[in-house]
Amino acid sequence: MKWTQTLIPTLREAPSDAEIVSHKLLLRAGLIRKLAGGVYTFLPLGLRALRKVEQIVREEMDRAGAIEVLMPALQPPEIWQQSGRYETASNVLFKLKDSGGREWLLSPTAEEVITTLAANEINSYRQLPKNFYQISLKFRDEIRPRFGLMRAKEFIMKDAYSFDTTDESAMASYKKMYDAYTRIFARCGLKAFPVEADTGVIGGNYSHEFMVPAETGENEVVFCEACGYAANIEKATSGIPKTAAREIGAAVEKFATPGVVTIEALSKEPYKVPANRQIKTLVYIADSKPIIILIRGDDQLNETKLMARTGVVAVRPATSEEISPLLGAKPGSLGAVVNVPADAYVFADERIRGANDMTTGANEDGFHLRNVSIERDIKVHEWSDLRTVSAGEPCAKCAKPLKIRRAIEVGHVFKLGTKYSEALNATFLDADGARKPSVMGCYGIGVTRTLQAIIEQGNDKDGVIWPLNVAPYQVCITPLAVAPESEAMKLAEKFYAELTAKGVDVILDDRDERPGVKFKDSELVGFPIRIGIGEKSLAKGEVEIKPRHGAMQSIKVEEAVNAAMKLVSDGVAK
Ligand code: ATP
Ligand code: MG
Repeated sequence: MKWTQTLIPTLREAPSDAEIVSHKLLLRAGLIRKLAGGVYTFLPLGLRALRKVEQIVREEMDRAGAIEVLMPALQPPEIWQQSGRYETASNVLFKLKDSGGREWLLSPTAEEVITTLAANEINSYRQLPKNFYQISLKFRDEIRPRFGLMRAKEFIMKDAYSFDTTDESAMASYKKMYDAYTRIFARCGLKAFPVEADTGVIGGNYSHEFMVPAETGENEVVFCEACGYAANIEKATSGIPKTAAREIGAAVEKFATPGVVTIEALSKEPYKVPANRQIKTLVYIADSKPIIILIRGDDQLNETKLMARTGVVAVRPATSEEISPLLGAKPGSLGAVVNVPADAYVFADERIRGANDMTTGANEDGFHLRNVSIERDIKVHEWSDLRTVSAGEPCAKCAKPLKIRRAIEVGHVFKLGTKYSEALNATFLDADGARKPSVMGCYGIGVTRTLQAIIEQGNDKDGVIWPLNVAPYQVCITPLAVAPESEAMKLAEKFYAELTAKGVDVILDDRDERPGVKFKDSELVGFPIRIGIGEKSLAKGEVEIKPRHGAMQSIKVEEAVNAAMKLVSDGVAK
């Protein structure tokens, strides 16, 4: 490709709404342009890199035995009603009407469509296992689209869906995808690692997310360097000790705490109740029903765990107006010892199980209760791990201190079980003559998000540093004189032809621009290898080869193509 024939609108400054480095570079390097918030056009170079990522995904899915299909972006709402997700995923669903008034959904994912297909096309155990995948546009009505392609309203996802006869076979399908994902991200030059994840609205019982460490990531990952444990913070647990045992004290005693409405205030003079001897009482609304949550004063509630344990899809803190009639007091004086309605569901965190000598609100504004012995004084309906892990807590597996870091979720694998196959009748006739629902798994990769994660991980002050496998072009030839009859341009054309013939992706910067502009642009776009052809070095029979992330070398003209090929075959231009 000749630079002047394509469109590479590089920018010196990024638009002010681009907050993170990869978003800035996508715009500055002329890879994408914004049409509206969360909606982008891919320009020629961005599209080339995207296609390379897609191709890696496709090759690895094919290699893992998955078969490619293409499902419609327009989906009828009925199948979403059948799976139950018309309601539970309604916050992300784009809904539209056709001229006849019929409603349609724009595909945010395709479990319902593929399961409908399987219901119709798969009838016998002999047809299983099967794994279908597609690479296509997905639409989600994200409340806060941001960071460019990271969280867009419209994005490209690879989604795959496996159908198996047994749980065991489904696990094998899961493992194949897990391994394929590991290879895909490695081939994209990404340092991505799998972490245990919550299954959320999608359902199912086993799941891993693939994470790319990055300060700008929207996820927090808890990990143990010693034993390799890693989990999304929404799911992570630790081996933190239970609340220290104390003697069961005398009966519960009420005391006045005028104006004290925080854990911190109660821990100060004159009360001096340490946060770890307080019970924090929270009221949440889970699918429109209130639940009371008890957690230690120095712990934080993890809402995702709460949702997972209660099996609901939406929880929110209750408002003061909802709480007062329920417990008779305002937040700050709440508890679960007295004045608790008989039908209120009390959910307590494991860390305070069996704790004695605790202090909690009296359900009377301005009063607290001391000497609370949880087992004796509170009717807890359910115990569970509800707290959020903090850095430094001991690993549950090996007791070494846990660390936390931010990361970008680029992929997600789920074992789904029979949730969708049962709801949408995707059954098969087994060898024993019985009709059974297929055991499913689903597997997503955010292809456009992955592309941006590659840039978030590979950049410096001058621009993008593409891994060779996904660079829009691998080699940029930069003649400093571009008149067709000039020595530099003639040599550039020769290199271009030779490298192209060897299967290398080459761009020739034939712009009549100052050397500084051309070099700056090629660094900004981030081509892995640049061959500079200037009159001065040519006089010595040399050209200059510069790996994007390495030192410039002068090379004899005759050796230039081989030197470039060596860098290409070494994989990464260092
Ligand atoms: P997130 O937690 O980031 O909202 P998700 O868990 O809802 O993502 P999945 O349903 O697991 O996403 O989708 C599979 C993959 O699609 C994700 O791992 C992510 O890489 C990508 N993805 C999801 N939502 C978006 C989005 N709005 N923009 C770009 N990529 C996305
Ligand atoms: Mg996910």
